[in-house]
This record gives sequence, structure tokens and C-alpha cells, in this order.
Amino acid sequence: MLSYEEVCTELISKRVVPYADIFDFKDTPLEDLFEMFFTFCQTNLSEHCAEFDIQPARFVYTNDFDVNARAGYVDGYYIIKVNMGTIIETFKSFFANKNIFKQHKQTNEKYGSLEKLIEFPLGVVMYQAAIQFTYYHERAHLIQKPFQEFTSLEEHNQTGPSSHYSAFKHALEFDADVHAANLVPVHIIDFWKKLAKQDQTSENLSKLLSIGVSGILNYFMFMEKNNQNLYYRESSHPHPLIRSVYITDVIIHVAEINVDFKLDSSAILREAFNITESFCEHNGFPNFAAKFKSMFQQNFDGIKEYIDNMASEADHVSQLVRNRFPDSI
Ligand SMILES: [Zn+2]
Repeated sequence: MLSYEEVCTELISKRVVPYADIFDFKDTPLEDLFEMFFTFCQTNLSEHCAEFDIQPARFVYTNDFDVNARAGYVDGYYIIKVNMGTIIETFKSFFANKNIFKQHKQTNEKYGSLEKLIEFPLGVVMYQAAIQFTYYHERAHLIQKPFQEFTSLEEHNQTGPSSHYSAFKHALEFDADVHAANLVPVHIIDFWKKLAKQDQTSENLSKLLSIGVSGILNYFMFMEKNNQNLYYRESSHPHPLIRSVYITDVIIHVAEINVDFKLDSSAILREAFNITESFCEHNGFPNFAAKFKSMFQQNFDGIKEYIDNMASEADHVSQLVRNRFPDSI
């Protein structure tokens, strides 16, 4: 396995990423967290992506406080870049001194007993779901290889030409989301499987899944501030509400395949919104979850129709992960 230092030295010497852009996390307060996530991503890229033909693939942090990530292809290298702000912001909000599962009264009533069973802050589940989602989403962009059309794909909706709507761009983002949503639940189920047998109930799994989905929802909020009104055929990415609806559906579907009972997708999404509302309240963030909830109720049919449209359009885009590697999602 390549060390972070080796990756950085290689990318700098080959002029793939400028020295000034690279974040060196050594001796910083969150060194362990940065190291752990790097190891997870780079190991996955180096050792578990053989079938995708994306070598050499490298993961690097960039020197930027904004929450953002991007995938690109530079001089023969497949690169995932994650802003250091992504790790710092998600860590700070999800489990550094702000444990909503302990400190927020209603959330504590619902989740306190699960937190005791799991023996670490449930904010860790939110954090992990958010950053793993980011990684798998970017990995999907590498597999799609859309780099003749786009030199790199940014997750933050930019202003300027790259923010313009195209059906192709929405298809790429939809496919990357679905790829990530297929892989994240396995990690959430790992938490559940560590519980004692008698605690491996559908109720506890539903709670963990709601927490994970809330982590992803909040991650969208960190990135976009989520103040946009609902839209369909606009912008570089589908609206975050629409993304959270299909992402949750996939997460629940995959979770059900891995356990021998049914789960209630709408109840899990509803509860993810509730956690997210408490989270915003607790952290003093604008309560985008309340807005999402009412947008969802008022536009249920339109949202479902747009998701169905994207899914059928995606069937005709040959380079998507779902078409190139149907077994991987
Ligand atoms: Zn993307």
C-alpha cells in the first residue's frame, strides 16, 4: 500500500497536482482521521478496483477549507481529490463536542439506548456514511471516464459553464450516487452486526440507516447550503432533495438484501429528516430539512417522475457504471 507521502511525492514530481494544492495532514490535530480515510480510499483504489481499468488511481487531499470533492484524469492518472475542509467540517459537526444523540433531548430519548449499545458516538456513523459516500461517488466518476467532455467533475455546484444543466451530466451524477448508495449500507450493517445478537433488531438497523442517510443529507447541506428551490432539468447535479430520495431507496433496498426482514423506506427517510432537523437546530444551522420535508410532500409525484425519467435515460448512456459493470451496483 502506498503511503500518503509516497502518493504526494509521485503526484508532485509528475506534475499531476501542484505542490501548493496538496494538503499535508502530518502533525495536524486530525492526523489520525485523515490517515484513516486516506488508507481506506487508497487501499480500495489500489487493491479492489482491478476490474474497472482505472490504474494508476490516486487519492489526495487538497488545501481548501470548503467542503468539496472532485474526480479527474490528469496525464495518465485517475485522481480523486477531497478538500481537507470536507474532513474537518464533517468531523466538527458530527461528533466533536456536539453530540446531538446525547445533548438533544428528543433525539437522546430515541437514540440514547442505541448509543449505549454501540459504545461510541452515533455521530461517527453520520461521519462515516458521509465520507464513504463521497469516496464511492468519486470512484464512480473515475469508472465512468467522462474526461473527454469534462477534465474534472466537481461536486459543489459551481457558477459558470460547468454548472449548466445537461441530461448527460445528471445521468453521470445519478449513476455515481446510485453506485455509492449500493456500497455505503454494507458499512452501516457492519455497525449493526457488531451489536449482540438480541440487539440486531430491525428497529436498531432502521435507526442506524436513518442516521447514515442523515449524514449524507447533511453533507449535501455543507456543500450547497441547500437553499435552492426544487428544480428538475437544471444545474449540474439533480436537486439534493431528489438525490436523497433515490439514494435512500437504494440504501434500503441493499440493506434488505443483506438481512432477512423488510424495512420501511419512507419511515427511514422521514426519520432521517427528523434527525437532520434536530441536527440543524442543535448546531444553529438553517433548518433546510423542514423545507425539504414540505417540498417532498408537495412534489411527491413530480420527484418520482423525474427519478423514473433519469433511470430510464441512464439505461441509454453506455459509459455509466450501471451499464459497464452491472454486477458492481
Ligand atoms: Zn459527482
